[in-house]
Amino acid sequence: MTVVPTFAAARDCAAGRVGLVPTMGFLHEGHLSLLEALRPQCDTLLMSLFVNPLQFGPTEDLSRYPRDLERDVALAESAGADVVFAPDIDEMYPEPPATSVSVADLAFRLDGERRPGHFKGVATVVAKLLAGIQPDLAAFGRKDAQQLAIIRRLVADLSFPTAVVGCPIVREMDGLALSSRNTYLDGDERDAAVALSRGLMAAADAAAEGERDGRALEAFALGVMASTEGVEPEYTELASQHDVSRLTELDRPAFLAVAARVGPTRLIDNIHFDWAAGEVSADRGIRLTAPSVLYTTSEEV
Ligand code: AMP
Repeated sequence: MTVVPTFAAARDCAAGRVGLVPTMGFLHEGHLSLLEALRPQCDTLLMSLFVNPLQFGPTEDLSRYPRDLERDVALAESAGADVVFAPDIDEMYPEPPATSVSVADLAFRLDGERRPGHFKGVATVVAKLLAGIQPDLAAFGRKDAQQLAIIRRLVADLSFPTAVVGCPIVREMDGLALSSRNTYLDGDERDAAVALSRGLMAAADAAAEGERDGRALEAFALGVMASTEGVEPEYTELASQHDVSRLTELDRPAFLAVAARVGPTRLIDNIHFDWAAGEVSADRGIRLTAPSVLYTTSEEV
């Protein structure tokens, strides 16, 4: 496996059908599942590692975000990556960008409302990665449901010839969605954090029994979070997978999204509701059967 610092070197390594997995690093099984999803579909598999300052607000955790290149390179290689593209800030932004990508409407709801500028930063860096690497396929997690909808839209609007592959959420054994930010949680916070996924699973159970009312489904998720000490719910919304608009009825592809603070850490999670032959099915994600690599150091991976 090769580690390259520039777009030009990344393109030089790319032969045949090219797959790209963009990440901010500090990898866990969620990121690795994206590599595994693309591996059989491409000849050259690239993972990018870049903590993108544009998508962090002034009071957010940019300086504290976990970083460990050696650890990430070992994990990416173990999951089948051929190339790790790890640009520094000057490679990604030789000058502060005068050009940025802003996706209207769907980027201004949910997290977009609470994190001004966040999705503009995400859309801009993803557009740069797609333009600079020109992958045939790019994989993104359903963990960031609104981000996935925004990326699908920007790829369509800007005619990028890249197929976007959305992948299920990978969860710890107790259901907590894997996130690099879980490393911020102390013991009590980690115990409380499982309330997000427990609430979502309660809503999925209700949907399986026929509940279709948006407010009722939201209430199941919110109820579990609100009754858990140490969890401060921020939003709970049933939204369209297509345009992130709020749904009053579960009558199309949707996701039930939650955001909450657990201590000082802000976490998000969701359940996607898909449709096949007029039937709704909840994507509850994939559960690990052993503790996550998230809690291992570079010497241990
Ligand atoms: P990040 O490094 O947090 O920017 O995430 C990089 C990619 O990994 C994004 O497409 C995320 O949606 C995806 N991802 C993060 N966590 C998970 C997870 N638990 N399961 C599946 N995909 C994930």
